[in-house]
Amino acid sequence: MAEIVCKLLIIGGGPGGYVTAIRAAQLGIDTLIVDEGPLGGTCLNIGCIPSKALIHAGEEFHKLAEAATGGSPFGLSAASPAIDLGKTMAWKDGIVTRLTGGVAGLLKKAGAKSLRGRASIRDGKTVTVETDLGPQTVHAETIVIATGSEPVELPSLPFGGKVISSTGALALTQLPESLVVVGGGYIGLEIGTAYAKLGVKVTVVEAAPRILPVWDAELTGPVAKRLAALGVEVMTGAKVTGLADDGETLQVATADGSDITLAADKILVAVGRRPRTQGFGLEQLALPMDGPFIRIDNQCRTAMRGVYAIGDVTGEPMLAHRAMAQGEMVADLIAGQPLVWDKRAIPAVCFTDPEIASVGLGPNAARRDGQAVLVGTFPFRANGRAMSLAREDGFVRVIAREDNHVVLGIEAVGAGVAEFASAFSLAIEMGARLEDIADTIHAHPTMGEAIQESALAALGRGLHL
Ligand code: FAD
Ligand code: NAD
Repeated sequence: MAEIVCKLLIIGGGPGGYVTAIRAAQLGIDTLIVDEGPLGGTCLNIGCIPSKALIHAGEEFHKLAEAATGGSPFGLSAASPAIDLGKTMAWKDGIVTRLTGGVAGLLKKAGAKSLRGRASIRDGKTVTVETDLGPQTVHAETIVIATGSEPVELPSLPFGGKVISSTGALALTQLPESLVVVGGGYIGLEIGTAYAKLGVKVTVVEAAPRILPVWDAELTGPVAKRLAALGVEVMTGAKVTGLADDGETLQVATADGSDITLAADKILVAVGRRPRTQGFGLEQLALPMDGPFIRIDNQCRTAMRGVYAIGDVTGEPMLAHRAMAQGEMVADLIAGQPLVWDKRAIPAVCFTDPEIASVGLGPNAARRDGQAVLVGTFPFRANGRAMSLAREDGFVRVIAREDNHVVLGIEAVGAGVAEFASAFSLAIEMGARLEDIADTIHAHPTMGEAIQESALAALGRGLHL
């Protein structure tokens, strides 16, 4: 068995792991990153990037279809559009290949080594990696566990056949006629909307009383409205109980207590993800857990000296940018820099139509903290740029402390507001007050003017409403 000795071993080449590796190698640490699959992890291969490519393709198709059916607000007309989903997926795969190849290049440039194979932990300093060339033993001073997460399977609806996870939904080469989406959260609504725009009959079955239950009804309202306009049927308070005996139709217990069946060519189950903690010897370390996640402190240290954990395996929110930020911090820590996790907020963006961007506290959460707050809202229907894009749905909302006007949260729902998230994060990270936003010149005409106007509204100085 081949033996490798390194200072730092990272298990998992997703956004958490590969950022740790790049940063650590840049800092001169002898680094090895191991992944059983292609570099880039869930995010680059089967998550963030491919889903956004599909969402964009859906939007392009939908615009053409609108023009073809006389629905274009701009007076455009077009012939009935067609799609070759195989080509769409090939285009999407091309983006994935470019990005994952880019990660390999970045690792090489920084001087990090990578190894393809499945890692099994033997103890806090020793890991066996099953590679194509046989097992290799790695001895490392420090280990970072960045093994990510995987889709939750419903016992009553196991994956297989027509029941698919997000990975399957992002790899279809033929459009199904109908798609039932179980779970009206991030994945279900992002991918469900994309397929609805491609002409698929989509039904969403959500167990909670509302879609996207992590946000309040005001913020998710425009999304629900748009889903209805796209012909997506949304059943809330409903639970799937399994496939009928024919193995074809889906059985659903609805909110009013009746049992119905839904026909579907494909069933996408998107009811959450769970941390990947099983099957690679993690139990050898007997680490304390936080529920299903590895427990970490404010430096991403586990209970065992020299063993860190980052990314989805460590808890919510399971987002790529959290994993990357943790990875960067851990690399700096291993290089001896005295850091702690002191981020004020982690942005959340849902790429539905319209998009949702949310950073910091919403009004309810802020009030729950016992805080007296000011809330300023500005709707896109009063924004010239939104009108010129025919996207007047949605608004920006800012939440600030009443006493000193420090901004606690900024949220938006609207077309393209994902790009606002960086400005929201910057404001909160820099401790902005309402006046900082209100007195900053925002370019005209942009939808971003609504950010300034929401701060003006909170201060009682609104101009354009
Ligand atoms: P992962 O990216 O899951 O990487 C873990 C890696 O570890 C994998 O490559 C795996 O092969 C490897 N691994 C696991 N065990 C072993 C082992 N024993 N040996 C070797 N290798 C191993 N997040 C966002 O922020 N924005 C989005 O828009 C977004 N969209 C998403 C869309 C979808 C459809 C999905 C599924 C997820 C999306 N996410 C999004 C979530 C995001 O993908 C994750 O939060 C992120 O990938 C977590 O990074 P990670 O490094 O913790 O783990
Ligand atoms: P989610 O937690 O976002 O949504 C799951 C939904 O399923 C919830 O609304 C929940 O109430 C519902 N649900 C749970 N059990 C159910 C059942 N038995 N029947 C019907 N509904 C049920 O999870 P997800 O959509 O699978 O996404 C997983 C994670 O991936 C997200 O939490 C997020 O961290 C990450 N993600 C992020 C993005 C993004 O940042 N844009 C996109 C996709 C995924």
